[in-house]
Amino acid sequence: MAEKPDPAGVLAEVAGKGIHCLPVPTPFAVGRVNCYLIEGDPLTLIDAGPRSERSLSELESLVEEAGHRIEDIGLVVATHQHIDHVGLIRTIADRSGAEVAALDLAAERLAEFGNNSEAEDDLAVSLMLSHGISPEIANTLRSLSTTYREYGDAVNVTRALPEGSTLGLSGLDLEVLHRPGHSPSDTVFWDRERRIAFGGDHLLSHISSNPLISRPLDGSPGRTRSLIDYNRSLAATRELPIEIMLSGHGDPITDHADLIDRRMLAQERRLEKIEGIIVDRPRTAHAVAEEIWGNVAVTQAFLTLSEVIGHTDILQDQGRVTEREEKGLLIFEAVA
Ligand SMILES: [Zn+2]
Repeated sequence: MAEKPDPAGVLAEVAGKGIHCLPVPTPFAVGRVNCYLIEGDPLTLIDAGPRSERSLSELESLVEEAGHRIEDIGLVVATHQHIDHVGLIRTIADRSGAEVAALDLAAERLAEFGNNSEAEDDLAVSLMLSHGISPEIANTLRSLSTTYREYGDAVNVTRALPEGSTLGLSGLDLEVLHRPGHSPSDTVFWDRERRIAFGGDHLLSHISSNPLISRPLDGSPGRTRSLIDYNRSLAATRELPIEIMLSGHGDPITDHADLIDRRMLAQERRLEKIEGIIVDRPRTAHAVAEEIWGNVAVTQAFLTLSEVIGHTDILQDQGRVTEREEKGLLIFEAVA
């Protein structure tokens, strides 16, 4: 078996091609977010980190270490709507006069940051309540989310990119591939010629990407079927001849097809586990999460809920599980 290339070596290799990985700190459990500076005209930054003094000053130093200045950035590209990636974009664009590029479907979501965060929290709370999470926990998580909102900011997209279009930089074409699942706006930027993909949080080397439930980008009511979307996106990405995927967190990925296979296998096992728990006795999605994760299902209630609902969506589509309402709670039960 071929030796797995060492991550530092891969990053040195892409640095030789004018792509610099800039790991910017975040206040979140995920740790640092990888931003990427691409040399050329315009000097391009993919993702910018969360909005904080510390993130900005570290980003500034990292850009300088790469031999450039924030003021020289001509284009900032967003991989998806999460604040650990886009919080600083407005600050950077204001300082440098850079254009801001993102998936066209995400533009409104990014521009209306405050209203949309409120609406996302409304959706999260109503899902938490109907799936068995107590009002106390739901409210605590909501106030936490409100606190974290200071790390975000509205982003004015000046170049809205349709799925399948090409973002042309000097000597470099990036194909715009919409890959919803982790968030509804996940976008992979694919340098087909050099076989390098900028993946955002679509695929991470060290942890599985959470299929977080969100509001649909097209403004339709209800919620995304995030895990079903995610699996479709992963299947499409698996087919690309990617040599290096530069992700939003953690090390670069040089075995994307194997990694996707491992993620799908783990998901298949989880699907069976969740079905078994429901076969054992009918219960809410939160009760399923508690059975699997114990106290983590409380401290990370929305995340674990998203995970379970993602799987019950699949089980329902396959006719293995049904959902019924009982005193305002959604109960999942096995199909006999
Ligand atoms: Zn994310």
